[in-house]
Amino acid sequence: MIKMIELPYPLDALEPYYSKQTLDLHYHILYKGYVDNTNKVQNQLKEARESNDFSHIKCLEKNLSFFGSGIILHELFFKNMGPAIPTSPSVSLMEQIQKDFGNYDQFKMQFTEAAKNVEASGWCLLVWEPRFEKLEILQCEKHQDLTLWGCIPLFVLDMWEHSYYLQYQTKRPEYIQAFWNIVNWNEVNKRFQKIK
Ligand code: MN
Repeated sequence: MIKMIELPYPLDALEPYYSKQTLDLHYHILYKGYVDNTNKVQNQLKEARESNDFSHIKCLEKNLSFFGSGIILHELFFKNMGPAIPTSPSVSLMEQIQKDFGNYDQFKMQFTEAAKNVEASGWCLLVWEPRFEKLEILQCEKHQDLTLWGCIPLFVLDMWEHSYYLQYQTKRPEYIQAFWNIVNWNEVNKRFQKIK
């Protein structure tokens, strides 16, 4: 059984960039829903195997991908945010960013534009792609569509409306701008170091 992770900071720790109310709903209702539903679908798959009844297999596999990816992305998201204390990319991550995006500003611009243009509900991700030995920025739709297989997410930004609408309404660019203030680069650096 999958258990929820604890938030690494109090609910109001990301204020004013990310409101307490948004984080409260995001963690206690939405994230919890993904955990509950993944456990449910794993039980349903077990029952299907035991009864040799795979009549709902397509739906179950789809739910596994959606709800399971929802857990993984939300946990990355919660952990790669933190109180607005200045942190920055490590020397090795910065070198990689410069190698793969030209410079930090170009990286930030590409990420910001990619996030702004995520279609409907989805995510923007900075990932390491081992096959290309390169950082890439990805747009993800829902929680599971549009990936590069094998990629390892370094940091992710939730572009579902539930992540910003209460506080920013339709102003996606303001939400993304605010996010840059609460990126916890220490966590991102740790993830990058593990890969290297
Ligand atoms: Mn979300």
